[in-house]
Amino acid sequence: MLQASSWPTAILHLDANAFFASVMQAVQPKLKGQPVVVGAERGIATAISYEAKAYGIKRGMLMAQIKKRCPKIVILPGDYELFSLFSQKMFVILRQYSPVVEEYSVDEGFIDVAGLRRPLHCSYIQMAQKIQTQINQELGLPVSVGISLSKSLAKLASGFKKPLGITLVSGPQLESFLSQIPIIDVWGLGPASSSYLAKFGIKTAQQFASLPESVFNKQSRLKLNKSHWEIWQELRGQVVYQINPHAKNHYQSISKTRTFRPPSGKEQIVWAELLHNVEAAFEKARKYGYYVKKILIFLKTQEFRYLSTEICFLQKEQYPLLLRKTIKAAFLKIFNSRLVYRATGIVLTELSETNQEQIGLFTDLPTIQTNKAQALYRVLQNNQKIDFGTSLYLPHKTSEPHFHLPMLEI
Ligand SMILES: [Mg+2]
Repeated sequence: MLQASSWPTAILHLDANAFFASVMQAVQPKLKGQPVVVGAERGIATAISYEAKAYGIKRGMLMAQIKKRCPKIVILPGDYELFSLFSQKMFVILRQYSPVVEEYSVDEGFIDVAGLRRPLHCSYIQMAQKIQTQINQELGLPVSVGISLSKSLAKLASGFKKPLGITLVSGPQLESFLSQIPIIDVWGLGPASSSYLAKFGIKTAQQFASLPESVFNKQSRLKLNKSHWEIWQELRGQVVYQINPHAKNHYQSISKTRTFRPPSGKEQIVWAELLHNVEAAFEKARKYGYYVKKILIFLKTQEFRYLSTEICFLQKEQYPLLLRKTIKAAFLKIFNSRLVYRATGIVLTELSETNQEQIGLFTDLPTIQTNKAQALYRVLQNNQKIDFGTSLYLPHKTSEPHFHLPMLEI
């Protein structure tokens, strides 16, 4: 029997429902109530609106498969800057309720709400309702909220009813709540642990949490590790995982895309267009002091088909001039001269504010190159547009001076 007092602690977990799809529906009201999937640029569904989920559409499904299942589906490319913006706005709202907020992911956060009932003049359930309503009214996003004694319990609670659910689990309710949770749904217990526990007849979170402490002894028949021990305590309402208010939302990304006319099937023109977006996206990253580890490039055909590929760099970079060969090779993999293109684009992901992890791993060479590139970009960046050769192919409508450096090698 699990025993805990009502609210020795109170942790709220908030999870935006079908986040990317909901953001697209929020900015394009005509999509409200429509089956929508996001991920056109990758060719697979990365987010699915609840209306689309009703057709059995799942994450990772191919767009062709999705169209078969639901001919009236609306397929959209992801707008990662927009998602990041909505995420930031969501966390601004959460910080109005408590100073202790953890940005766990782009669409999920933990808040310490213990002791806030009196200053906020409301019960925990009213707090959950207020937050849910405010996010829905101000951002147009549906969110599910869970409040319980630990992070693991709060996360289970928010996932209990979706979309727009609110679930509170106080100490005395732990037993009955956990008995409804299959062991595989417990945060941190993967398929391997779950099937191992199932062999011993442990199929619900309640059965796991009710195990005696002695099962964690070395002599025990069950072979459990430290993280099992932590989860066991969390499920019993004892806080092991602290809320980390310094954790940053790691879903920073920058994207640049541009349609060009007339559509073209010429390699040089499409490459020049792509490179223009590459330079523009990296320029923005440098402006915010970001280093880039991973990018996604895509080409959009005249028939609105997307071809894309991801590139992970050996080290975090700020200067695309140093990455040109790698990006060109990736471009050539997706470019097909028999097709005609109308747009290109790039998404920079895995942005961070330092490039430190790589220090010491490389010889001097990249550093010298980086320094050269840095100096060069610094000189050129003063009110100039940097195109590095793309100017040869791109039409310019402005009278801004351009540097043409097609032969540049550093
Ligand atoms: Mg979510």
